[in-house]
Amino acid sequence: MKYASAALFGLFLTFAFTPANASNGKGIPGDADLRFAQLETLLPTAGTTRTASGAPGAQYWQQRADYRIKVTLDEKRHRLVASQSITYMNRSPDSLSYVWLQLDQNIFKDDSIARRSEVAANSGTRRDSVGKGDSLSFAAMRRHQAFQDRKYGFEIGSVRDASGRTLSTTVNDTMMRIDLPQPLRPGTSIEIRFDWESNIVNEAAIGARGGYEYFEETNTYQYFLAQWFPRLVAYTDYAGWQHKQFLGRGEFTLEFGDYDIELTVPADHIVASTGELQNADAILTTTQRERLKRAATAKSPVFIVTPEEAKANEKEGTDRTRTWRFKAQNVRDFAWASSRKYIWDAMGYRQNDAARPFVMAMSFYPNEGEPIWSKYSTHAVIHTMEVYSRFSFPYPYPVAISVNSWERGGMEYPMITFNGYRPTADEKTGKLTYSRNTKYGLIGVIIHEVGHIYFPMIVNSDERQWTWMDEGLNTFLEYMAELEWEEKFPAFGDKTNVLDAITTYMQSSDQVPIMTNSESIVQFGPNAYSKPAAALSVLREVVMGRELFDHAFREYANRWKFKRPTPADFFRTMEDASGVDLDWFWRGWFYGTDHVDVAVGDIREYQVSSQDPDVEFPLKRSEFARDWPDSHSQKLNKAEGRTPRLERYPELKDFYNENDAFVVTNKDRNEYREFLEKLKPWEKATFERAVKAGEHVYFVDFRNVGGLVTPLPLTLNYVDGSREDYLVPAEVWRYNAIEVTKLFIRDKRIASIELDRNHLIADADKSNNVSPRRIAQSRIELFRARDAGRNQMLDALAELKTQGKSGDAAKTEEKALPLAPAQP
Ligand SMILES: [Zn+2]
Repeated sequence: MKYASAALFGLFLTFAFTPANASNGKGIPGDADLRFAQLETLLPTAGTTRTASGAPGAQYWQQRADYRIKVTLDEKRHRLVASQSITYMNRSPDSLSYVWLQLDQNIFKDDSIARRSEVAANSGTRRDSVGKGDSLSFAAMRRHQAFQDRKYGFEIGSVRDASGRTLSTTVNDTMMRIDLPQPLRPGTSIEIRFDWESNIVNEAAIGARGGYEYFEETNTYQYFLAQWFPRLVAYTDYAGWQHKQFLGRGEFTLEFGDYDIELTVPADHIVASTGELQNADAILTTTQRERLKRAATAKSPVFIVTPEEAKANEKEGTDRTRTWRFKAQNVRDFAWASSRKYIWDAMGYRQNDAARPFVMAMSFYPNEGEPIWSKYSTHAVIHTMEVYSRFSFPYPYPVAISVNSWERGGMEYPMITFNGYRPTADEKTGKLTYSRNTKYGLIGVIIHEVGHIYFPMIVNSDERQWTWMDEGLNTFLEYMAELEWEEKFPAFGDKTNVLDAITTYMQSSDQVPIMTNSESIVQFGPNAYSKPAAALSVLREVVMGRELFDHAFREYANRWKFKRPTPADFFRTMEDASGVDLDWFWRGWFYGTDHVDVAVGDIREYQVSSQDPDVEFPLKRSEFARDWPDSHSQKLNKAEGRTPRLERYPELKDFYNENDAFVVTNKDRNEYREFLEKLKPWEKATFERAVKAGEHVYFVDFRNVGGLVTPLPLTLNYVDGSREDYLVPAEVWRYNAIEVTKLFIRDKRIASIELDRNHLIADADKSNNVSPRRIAQSRIELFRARDAGRNQMLDALAELKTQGKSGDAAKTEEKALPLAPAQP
């Protein structure tokens, strides 16, 4: 659907910017002045914590939270049992009389805001939404039953400070306030201790970012634990305590800190985790440690646990436990996975960074993920670091991990990612196959989730508020990395180009601007992922160029690594570091919902007139004859054999019958001479040169149908077969955002002009991109009229399929027999 009329986007602007002159008809066409207005009116006031240049200011601060957790995975009861301590450092200038914890597992409680505010359409698992109209999926019913069978959410014991004093607490949905005995002054810290337990959700049944997965055929499990422990709520300079409850989609706003975590799991489990394993000597076998050593310098991934070893391991089971201890520095979260099913492979990655030259890339997956996981996963992890580091900064952590945890999709945590996609085993033959979508989905999701270790795990944007700041930037870089993986990577469905993939969304009606809070976004994927990725692609390849864009983007990443940027910091840094005013771009792409569609309109061609009547009048005569042919009736009269009176009476002829209007007179010649004499020397020189060169002058009309102001990458196709690319900057629309006319003067004749030949600007309707228009060519298939509807009499005559005849119908029962037709 299109909404191209000027009235409609006038309405939108009134709504979005409430300008004084938008609705009274006195403004500039298309409110061009507002589209190019500076963003200061919309951005928060800059200051000493965040500067007007988009950098952290001299007074910038952020809080810090260090964690110590001892947790036991109770496999029999699918339950975590833990004792935890948090040391919270108040680096803000404020005294805090309470601190808040995030209790994300409480989202699964029966009375959570998230569950009570679900609408029918999304009450299935998050991968199983149903369309419009009433419908109920098996998955939605299974989820309902899973919630009936067990209770979820944190069960937290008494909360104490370091001296053992009990602190008073108040739980509010997915958050808990801990009241402090005395305010926590700036520059001081407090230690909080408590024990907790929680049931682990069956992820496939309930839909979550973590949980357990049950493998029916082998009666085995894997656990992938995310948002599994109470975490400190962020306290920021721009929002105070983050107070948006966890509703499921808006992800996390977290503080950096150090983690010391002891994971007690069944003794035959392999654990993948954020951080570095502290007790490898006690946990890993000699063989495993030797293999890890070999993997560090290997040219391809090395198995630490082979597929055969994993298969053997998953067959048994044990009541014994082992404790894996991990430490992680300067991370904003901690996640882990544990199973006796895991194959484990690893390959070292050397980077050009003195602080962190070596990173171990690792993958953990069950045999069900083979053969594609050992082939692609660890390579994809390293490929991500190679590309992302070039766009931002060297990977700062010791490990980068990909775990195969569910069917499809993925989720990111510091140093560790949970990723989907597995091959399919044929039910009868067991033969393994995988689709194109599975293969590229797997590579794509690993790049995406490992990419998130940069954004937002390091460039710590506020995911609970702004999904685009991590998903959008990350999808853009994922796209860049996919293009570097292989030439025709189907990065967006069947399309390789994000700009071709985004046009349908950008023309759709249910749209909100990219600058919308995470929980209020409609059309989540295109809005927060692909559209910002498309915007950054236009920015890099068209508006700014690679040199300016890459410098500014790297500047943003480095200014804000291990810090907390807001949208304004991104917008401002990209302008500040490149010297390009992009306010119009942010307004159009991030604050608006218009789409890109520019029509190339009329082209009018001229040559400069010599004004010499002896040259020009004959030309005018032939132009007149071409444009205004004699009356058609006259031709028919002639055909009928009518002779005009003038021919029958030649004496009626006079001067005007001998001379047409284009016969030159001496007066005409005198005027021409006077015109030449009055020209100033520079005018005469210009005139003579232009006439002599015979240059071709073109006036080309453009109409902004979609409303989003855009640069115009044009291709001028010449009559002689040559071609010229010409980029018109978006500022061409600053006086009139709807219609502009461009002037081209060329010494060659233009045959046609084409807009966006290389698909650079997400122009939605390509049919109006060439002038003169081309005939659209395609193939068309003949179709047959459909058969008539149900013939009950005929259907009743069908024989009942019995067991053995057809696998699918084998369970048909006698009582399902159709009634016999009435006997005559
Ligand atoms: Zn993502």
